Amino acid sequence: MTSLADLPLRADLVGRTAYGAPQLHVPVTLNVNENTHPVPEEVRADILDRIAAALRGVNRYPDREFTALREALAGYLGHGLAPEQLWAANGSNEVLQHVFQAFGGPGRTLLTFPPTYSMYPNYATTSGTAVLEGRRDEDFGLSAATLAAEIERTRPDIVVIAAPNNPTGTPVALDALAAAYDATDGVLVVDEAYGEFMPDDAPSALTLLPGRPRLAVSRTMSKAFAFAGARLGYLAADPAFVDALRLVRLPYHLSAITQAAALGALAHAPVMLGMVDEIRVQRERTVRGLEALGYRVAPSWTNFLLFGGVEDPKALWQGLLDRGVLIRDLAIPGSLRVSIGTAAETDAFLEAMTALTPVGA
Ligand code: PMP
Repeated sequence: MTSLADLPLRADLVGRTAYGAPQLHVPVTLNVNENTHPVPEEVRADILDRIAAALRGVNRYPDREFTALREALAGYLGHGLAPEQLWAANGSNEVLQHVFQAFGGPGRTLLTFPPTYSMYPNYATTSGTAVLEGRRDEDFGLSAATLAAEIERTRPDIVVIAAPNNPTGTPVALDALAAAYDATDGVLVVDEAYGEFMPDDAPSALTLLPGRPRLAVSRTMSKAFAFAGARLGYLAADPAFVDALRLVRLPYHLSAITQAAALGALAHAPVMLGMVDEIRVQRERTVRGLEALGYRVAPSWTNFLLFGGVEDPKALWQGLLDRGVLIRDLAIPGSLRVSIGTAAETDAFLEAMTALTPVGA
C-alpha cells in the first residue's frame, strides 16, 4: 500500500497531522463548541424555499461577489459597516486562510498566543508563513502591556487574537486590542467566533475598525447561529483589506446554495440567536456544578468552559465517553474543555462528572 512517505510531498508538510477532533456518534456531543439546538422549523422552511429558488439557476455560476449576502451581513453587524467592508467564505476557517494567503507567505510570520485555536498555526504552515508564539498573562489573559511587548519582541506580519479565546473562554479587553494594533505594522485579526456569547454590554472589536485599515474582525455563523454545517464565516475590515482577499479567493468560492442558506438564516437572526441566553444559563449552571465538584473553571464569555484540577484528563475524557458524553482533551495539563449544550445535555454531563469525581477531590 502506498503511504504518505512514498509521495513527493512538500518538505514543510512532512510529519504533520490533519485537524482531527474526533467525530464520534455518541448521545451527548460537547466537543467542538457547536450550538446543539437545532435550527427552528420556521427558519428551516424559509431556507428550503430559498435553496429551491437558487436551484432553479444553479446551471449558472453564483454571484462571485455575493452582493446580497454582504448587504445582509453588514446589516446584521451594524456599527455603520458598508457591504464593501464585508468578506465571507466557507467558514471562518476559509476566511482566515484567505488572510494568510494575502498577508502571510514565505519570509513572513504569524504571532499567536497559545493556548488558542489550533488551526492558526495550520493556516500559517500551509501558506508558508513561519509561526511565532507569544506569552499570555496569568489565567490566560492578554493585557495591553503584554500584547505590546510580545509584538515588539517578535515583529510579526500577522497577529491573530481570538477574543474571547478558544479553548479558555477568556475575554480580551478592547484597550488591549487597540494596543496590539498600535504595536504592529502588520495586520491584526481579532477572531470573534464567539462574539454573540459575550455579555450584551461588552463592546465588540468591530467598534475599533474606523481608522484602522490593518485590522480585521472575523465572525462565524457556526456557533451562536447554530449553522456550523452550512459553513459560513465572514469578516469586517477596511474595503482595501477586503480587496486584498479578493486576490487569493478561488472564483465562485461561495456556492449559490450556501449564499441562499446564509441569507435565509440572517433573515431570521433573532430567532436563530434565540438560544444564546439559554446557553448562557446552562453555562452558569455548569460552572457551579464543576466548582461544587472541586474543579477550577476559567471565566468564560463563550459557549464552552475550560476546567482545571483534573488529575488524569485522558482517563476522565474516556470515562465520560464510556457514559455517552464526548468532550475535548486539548492536551492542556490538568484540563479539559466542555461545550455548553441543552439543559438535558448539561444534566448528562454533570451527572457523569459527579459519578467520575472521587468524593473530596
Ligand atoms: N475561530 C475559532 C476561535 C474557533 O473556535 C473556530 C471553530 N472551532 C473557528 C474559528 C472556525 O469556525 P468555522 O470555520 O466553522 O467558522
